[in-house]
Amino acid sequence: MQQTTDTTFYHLIQQEYETDRLTSRANPIVTIGELYMPVLQCDVCGTQRCGGQQQRHEAVTDPELARRLDGGPLAFGEWWGLAAKVREHLNLAEDVMPGDTFGLPTYQITLDTASDFLFPNLRAVISQRVLNAFQSAGLSGYHTIEPGLVPGKRVRNELPPYYELCVIGTAWRKGTIVSTACNHCGRRQRTLVSLEIDPERWDGSDIFTVDGVTSIIGASARARDLIVEAGFTNVQCRDFRIPTFVDRYLLEHSPLSA
Ligand SMILES: [Zn+2]
Repeated sequence: MQQTTDTTFYHLIQQEYETDRLTSRANPIVTIGELYMPVLQCDVCGTQRCGGQQQRHEAVTDPELARRLDGGPLAFGEWWGLAAKVREHLNLAEDVMPGDTFGLPTYQITLDTASDFLFPNLRAVISQRVLNAFQSAGLSGYHTIEPGLVPGKRVRNELPPYYELCVIGTAWRKGTIVSTACNHCGRRQRTLVSLEIDPERWDGSDIFTVDGVTSIIGASARARDLIVEAGFTNVQCRDFRIPTFVDRYLLEHSPLSA
């Protein structure tokens, strides 16, 4: 793989449009029928543990169990009881976390679209064009799954293929510390010091999550150049060092639940 010396890192997010209407037109996708491990309501610290590191597990085939995976919230005892049943059902060695999902996702495409990137519910979905470009360039740090796609009532054309980007690369911001906030529920907190990605805590992947948060998708300079040069639509690569309104709020209110 070609080595890059440019350690500018970019946040992969939806393109900005002038109006909410244009924003949703460019992103006509909704998640349907997904099963979620519920939020944990802790009776000691009094907060809800939502989890920022959602993992996708095998499909839950027991309808009784599936019915309970509606996202919650559940009280402490109930939550751990459900978690034990899920782990037994799926024969999982590792813990499950609030927000974990089960089986392949299904997305409804609500309008005819040619967007290269779609962003359903904190995830990224890419077109065939993007997948081909990523593969030919040998980009690292991701694999893809093929979600179920169903057309909404207003869709006239056959749906093009889309692939969900499952990010496996990792990077951390300078100085971010993750610590245990509550020993009872295991809730963790993330203390942000800087917005800048630390090259020393980057695993070298082209596509990566930031600070262990699966919904923050980062891109290397190489990935960013490829995306910009190809002119892929409905995506922007925003330098992590440039704070958004949300970033300023997060820094100010750090530590954050993780
Ligand atoms: Zn707690």
